[in-house]
Amino acid sequence: MSFFFNVESGALNFRAGNYLILRFRDLADDPRGPMRQFSIASSPSESGSMLRIATTIEPDDSPFKRRLNDLKPSEPVEALGPFGSFTIDEARWKDSEVVLVGAGIGVTPLRSMLFEAAKLKLDSNLKLIHLARDPSEFVFATEFDSLSSSHSRLNIRRILSSPRADSPSQHVGSVELSVLSGMVEEMRSALFYLSGPAGIVHALSQALSTSASVPHSNIRTERFTGY
Ligand SMILES: Cc1cc2nc3c(=O)[nH]c(=O)nc-3n(C[C@H](O)[C@H](O)[C@H](O)COP(=O)(O)OP(=O)(O)OC[C@H]3O[C@@H](n4cnc5c(N)ncnc54)[C@H](O)[C@@H]3O)c2cc1C
Repeated sequence: MSFFFNVESGALNFRAGNYLILRFRDLADDPRGPMRQFSIASSPSESGSMLRIATTIEPDDSPFKRRLNDLKPSEPVEALGPFGSFTIDEARWKDSEVVLVGAGIGVTPLRSMLFEAAKLKLDSNLKLIHLARDPSEFVFATEFDSLSSSHSRLNIRRILSSPRADSPSQHVGSVELSVLSGMVEEMRSALFYLSGPAGIVHALSQALSTSASVPHSNIRTERFTGY
């Protein structure tokens, strides 16, 4: 589910990949408290004074998520930010191979980056790899496909990853790594952005540095805690 917010004080200065913290001061019954982080899914150039976030909405959601989903049009929401260093880096992206890997809803900051890179015409060689356990998690698919149809240097792969037999909540990092190796032209010099649930981001980052010898300085991560 996407949520769109007008910024009360006008345009908000943020970088593609930044996140916000939303707070519901009236929320007393959530065990994790009244605040959550959300990456900004819109890009600075397409946003103006309108911000987009996206999250999963499920029947067994937390009180926070229920409060968010029950928002009425034009109801004010408190937001803090922008925060984060998982951002587009224009100087390094220009003319480089940049590999964006999003697991499930972890693709949100990558959406912001892709639309910004297209707008800035950085001419990066962009790869988006979207991992999911279920096809319903391939959010923004239509928007990504339409962006890639007008940008020949953007390639998109969607991969359904299987849970590990001994620990169903964990993904198999080596499977994703072999797919990555097949797509990426130069593993050691490409710049990797990994985003999503902490477990899979950690596993992939480890696999990239130990099995594929990608330097740490070429791996940026955003860990979505709470999933
Ligand atoms: C930098 C950063 C950026 C982030 N960006 C995003 C983003 O763009 N989009 C996004 O969706 N998330 C994002 N997150 C994660 C987000 O902040 C929340 O932690 C996440 O959405 C989980 O929300 P929730 O706690 O309300 O749980 P829910 O989404 O309601 O549930 C998460 C899991 O916990 C279980 N659960 C929920 N409540 C309980 C309970 N009371 N007891 C036991 N189990 C429960 C649910 O069944 C589910 O499996 C980000 C996190 C960080 C750190």
